[in-house]
Amino acid sequence: MPEQSRVLSFEDARHLVEEHAAKVSPPETELVDLLAANRRVLATPIVSDRDLPPFPRSTRDGYAVRSADLAGFPAGLELIGEIKAGESVENIPKDVSKGQAVAIMTGAPVPTGADAVVMVEYTSELGGRVEVTRRVEVGENIVPTGAEAKQGSVLVERGARLNDAAVALAASAGKSQVEVYKRPRVAVLTTGDEIVGIDTVPGPTQIRNSNSYSLAVQIRNAGGEPVLLPIAPDEPRRLRDLMEEGFKSDLLLMTGGVSMGRYDLVEQVLEELKAEFFFTGAKIQPGRPVVFGRCRMAPSRETYFFGLPGNPVSTMVTFELFACPMLEALCGMSPRKLRFVYAKLKSEIRVKPGLKRFLPAFLSGEFESSQVELVPWQGSGDIAATARANCYIVVPPDRELIPAGDFVPILPR
Ligand code: AMP
Ligand code: MG
Repeated sequence: MPEQSRVLSFEDARHLVEEHAAKVSPPETELVDLLAANRRVLATPIVSDRDLPPFPRSTRDGYAVRSADLAGFPAGLELIGEIKAGESVENIPKDVSKGQAVAIMTGAPVPTGADAVVMVEYTSELGGRVEVTRRVEVGENIVPTGAEAKQGSVLVERGARLNDAAVALAASAGKSQVEVYKRPRVAVLTTGDEIVGIDTVPGPTQIRNSNSYSLAVQIRNAGGEPVLLPIAPDEPRRLRDLMEEGFKSDLLLMTGGVSMGRYDLVEQVLEELKAEFFFTGAKIQPGRPVVFGRCRMAPSRETYFFGLPGNPVSTMVTFELFACPMLEALCGMSPRKLRFVYAKLKSEIRVKPGLKRFLPAFLSGEFESSQVELVPWQGSGDIAATARANCYIVVPPDRELIPAGDFVPILPR
């Protein structure tokens, strides 16, 4: 056991991880094709090579007019041309004078002189003239040049995880390739004498290794590259060898062996390796025995580790709550706070107070009428219940009873 066990509140434990995560240096970079860039972390900001929009853009099909011309109604204007999207510059009327209008399409450049676009719905056209039945404000239905972004401004920041909108911005800046951070390698070490590989026929008291697989998914989702190590028995020598192997990666995640049992040896072996412990527990359920620390295996190389409790739901929850922000930082991502969203509780919750709980739950309903309820479960070993859940309900440590109809915080899963 570490000399002092350090059990923190959920919030303190999370903040401690965030503080360490803020100090890690980002990984090396690589160029990827834009189509392969979704969910990668941007290493070089995307800068706009032109104003967006590059010309005053009409947002409607209609007529470009001088708004001051529309005083009495219906207002008759002389039609002097038509501008479609992509119209060549020489075909755009040079100036719209008093009493004139130009037919214009969505996405087309508004000609000089005009200061508004009237929607086609409020007009009728006849023999070279257009009649307008409604007034428009100056600037109505026009996005001015550069209003969305100026040439040379940053469209997507370094450290952003690319998504549909960011990829669209990169495309609009003409980037067919983007520079992103390389994925960090995350070693996964599962421990336990009872745990066997999934290709082995388990004996009557053996359990197939599922944690390495849920973690591999979570690691990939967070942007890392999982490296699955062999299963470690509850035996210090072999455990130590495998840990040393794991510390060669950018982050080491261990599962099991961190509780108070006689054969929970992970912390003891970490002590032998002179690891630093930042916390050895958090007041949460599931996942109370979670361990966070750092180990120096070579003078120039320190690696963070998490000892995640072996119960499968505890492993999943503690990854999400603690390992994920560290992994995101190792991916080069800018830090983000954990935020819960609220949903209406469908049926009451009774729990023993004292721990902050993250309980598998199901958010149902449709459109604005969503509601959430606990999924019945057999505790933190119940993967089947968790697979039926689509979120966790977050129960604060001081609540014993939450009545139906209350709004409760949830964490999506
Ligand atoms: P431990 O944290 O080592 O005390 O393990 C807690 C529970 O989780 C025990 O019931 C273990 O059998 C189970 N467990 C530990 N590791 C795994 C794993 N890799 N896959 C599935 N179950 C596991
Ligand atoms: Mg164990």
